Amino acid sequence: FNQSVDVIVIGAGAAGMMCAAQAGQRGRRVVLVDHAEKRAEKIRISGGGRCNFTNLNVSAANFLSSNPHFCRSALARYTPQDFIALVQRHGIRYHEKTLGQLFCDESSAQIIEMLERECADGQVHWAQPARVLDVAHEAAAGYRVRTDRGEFDAPSLVIATGGLSIPKIGATDFGYRIAHQFDIPVVTPRPALVPLTLDRATLDALAPLAGVAFTVEARCGDGRFREQALVTHKGLSGPAILQISSYWQAACAAGHPEPVVLDLFAGDDADAWLDAHANSNALPGNLLAERLPRRFARAWAQLQGAERALAQMSERERQALAQALSHWALTPSGTQGFAKAEVTLGGVDTRALSSKTMAATARPGLYFIGEVVDVTGHLGGYNFQWAWASGHAAAQAL
Ligand code: FAD
Repeated sequence: FNQSVDVIVIGAGAAGMMCAAQAGQRGRRVVLVDHAEKRAEKIRISGGGRCNFTNLNVSAANFLSSNPHFCRSALARYTPQDFIALVQRHGIRYHEKTLGQLFCDESSAQIIEMLERECADGQVHWAQPARVLDVAHEAAAGYRVRTDRGEFDAPSLVIATGGLSIPKIGATDFGYRIAHQFDIPVVTPRPALVPLTLDRATLDALAPLAGVAFTVEARCGDGRFREQALVTHKGLSGPAILQISSYWQAACAAGHPEPVVLDLFAGDDADAWLDAHANSNALPGNLLAERLPRRFARAWAQLQGAERALAQMSERERQALAQALSHWALTPSGTQGFAKAEVTLGGVDTRALSSKTMAATARPGLYFIGEVVDVTGHLGGYNFQWAWASGHAAAQAL
């Protein structure tokens, strides 16, 4: 069959459902198309099943993009407080876990059900599962989307198909392909918020410690995060590493790769601490166990070749050890890729979009929202806030 509507939204995830619901509630006839069998799987698995749906402290500084200012307008017009009000209206109980991160008390399924109810209020028509066969633009009919469940045409088409992370639950490069089809540039997508892999020598020293966690300040480029790091069988993970992986990827993408620097004293003065222990006959690995998990302290000291008691070290050697503790520079061998990445860095180039409406400036009626756009949030509810805010921005313009 063939159906004419006002808006076709492709991708019924976080951004697509938010946009469809709001456009529908503004009186637009909306069809929401998605190829997945199950609805919004990424919301379902998010936040360990409890969905970290926003963060109390959101600003442009929490996002990476080739244009760091692009996200400001949408974020200012749909704030965490707006989303919290929605959650409260639907009677969903939530709590702050840490660092402003808000999670459902019960289950991420409640966020999906809330968005479904919002879509129902907007009389959104669902086409899911529906495989998109092709998309065309004709002057008379506007955008025409051919699917295995029929054809839809509309003056407005919203692409909300997300990024490439976790292909096994339905992530595809569809949004980037549509961008190419309509001559809209795409900043090369890379896995972000992703565990890092390490070179063989470092891995040989650390891998036996898989599971050990420690607090660090991780630094790379403009990124700086004081959180937990975790040793894995392939390298490093944990919130500090996931956060800094996005900055490491951004530096690589910009053509000036930088090491990831870990401060094992997390901002404390390693120099002063070692000075205070200058007369100790303990081996550095044993002494450092006061500050770091014992097995990790020993393996790290061994990796640094620091195997003489502090009292036997020259001042220069001690200073070098202090420097290594506060500036442990690691050059990752890579990442664990899109299979393990929480988000995608890069995407539809913001220079081709209006920051107010998310519309492609050279393609009237074509919009890109959510993770498919080159706006990538930190860990902590920021990626969903971008999905809600960009979905809202487009919906106001449709
Ligand atoms: P998505 O929610 O990914 O939705 C895209 C939709 O498009 C999907 O339904 C998909 O089926 C559909 N689609 C894709 N290709 C096609 C196609 N070819 N045809 C038709 N439909 C298609 N962010 C947070 O803020 N807080 C968290 O707690 C959090 N936890 C996460 C945990 C994990 C394990 C992962 C992987 C991510 C997490 N994120 C979290 C990131 C967050 O899930 C995404 O940034 C967010 O879902 C992006 O929203 P979106 O609507 O742009 O894309």
